Amino acid sequence: MEERVLLVKYGEIAMRGNNRQLFVKRLVDTIRKNIDSDGDFYVVREQGRLIVESRGSEINFDTMIPKINRIFGILGVCPGIKVKDQDIENLKRVSLEFLKENLNGKADTFKVVTKRSNKKYPLTSNEISAEVGGYIFDNYEGMKVDLHSPNTTLYIEIRNDAYIYTDFIEGCGGLPYGSSGKAVSLISGGIDSPVATWMMAKRGVEVSGVYFHSPPYTGERAKEKVKDLAGIISMYTGGFKLYVVKFTEVQLYLLENVPEDKLTIFLKRAMMRTAEKIAAKEHADGLITGESAGQVASQTMQGINAINAVCTIPVMRPLCGMDKQEIVDKARKIGTFETSILPYEDCCTIFVAKHPETRPKTSVINKIESKLEKLDELIEKAFEEMELYEL
Ligand code: ATP
Ligand code: MG
Repeated sequence: MEERVLLVKYGEIAMRGNNRQLFVKRLVDTIRKNIDSDGDFYVVREQGRLIVESRGSEINFDTMIPKINRIFGILGVCPGIKVKDQDIENLKRVSLEFLKENLNGKADTFKVVTKRSNKKYPLTSNEISAEVGGYIFDNYEGMKVDLHSPNTTLYIEIRNDAYIYTDFIEGCGGLPYGSSGKAVSLISGGIDSPVATWMMAKRGVEVSGVYFHSPPYTGERAKEKVKDLAGIISMYTGGFKLYVVKFTEVQLYLLENVPEDKLTIFLKRAMMRTAEKIAAKEHADGLITGESAGQVASQTMQGINAINAVCTIPVMRPLCGMDKQEIVDKARKIGTFETSILPYEDCCTIFVAKHPETRPKTSVINKIESKLEKLDELIEKAFEEMELYEL
């Protein structure tokens, strides 16, 4: 049998313009990162396609396809074979063999479609399709040609080598990572914010994460958990920057100086302010949170308003209209759920009020905050001392 390869199709339309080369390079790098851990495989750039080939061992499509199809901007993959000897007699023979193997010898309706980017090839695309189709018809018992709605289409692509495949396995969609600008996502380690981050990244937004922790009230393992979540997201995006901000002093200061029932609102506002500083540093134009309307006390419209009042750039809340169950389903699907439910403490829940304010008045919050003389300084210090992890 010829060498097995995987043809990778990507959304070209989204990549028009100057950055196209950059996006393709990023896709190649992401594929490499996801599959090439032991150096057995490599990625070839062909016009409009990426092709994963092997250095020796056979490609295991079952394990490799999900690793590629989850990358944003990839339309899908075609498991196929690479044929070095492009002579028409060889193409006929190999096509027949490939089809038989794929259909387990069963008969079906079929057609052949050829795409020829090597214009020096002596036959036209239609001639190749007709020759190969005729040969299959003559030599594969029961096969019927159906040019309009065949069950099986055998594709032949004539490039530097020839590629033959039948199936297209759809990817998870999305736009090439980075094609829609940049944003900073507040990631807590809970179920919601990793999903929100994933959803915006899927739309081509390049995301940096920020996690606030309060050691010693929150532990090292809570931080590791958020790093693990960022690592999962990076399998879709090809890389992920996570900032970790130590918020203990800010949090203790707020605890002493604001009414207990409003503590969460002040804490969230402080997080937003810090995230905006990170956005400025990253040249990002938006923030992302995992807030969902009505989910907890601070996520009423009044709560969101009071938190949002300190933001000067847009805040994306992609989960706002989703039910918890829908978010959980999504988290399971993208693979963050099991990590999110690990039971480590979150800085939002360590000093939580028994009866948090559900309808804070922004004007009241603003007034109290204006008297918190040390707040800006503490936020600035936390920002200056933050750590960066690249996943
Ligand atoms: P999640 O499931 O994402 O933890 P949640 O339902 O627990 O969200 P909240 O605790 O109200 O809701 O948090 C709302 C949002 O605020 C989170 O989705 C996240 O974007 C942000 N956030 C909360 N805590 C932190 C934190 N420690 N670090 C970074 N962002 C946070
Ligand atoms: Mg949470």
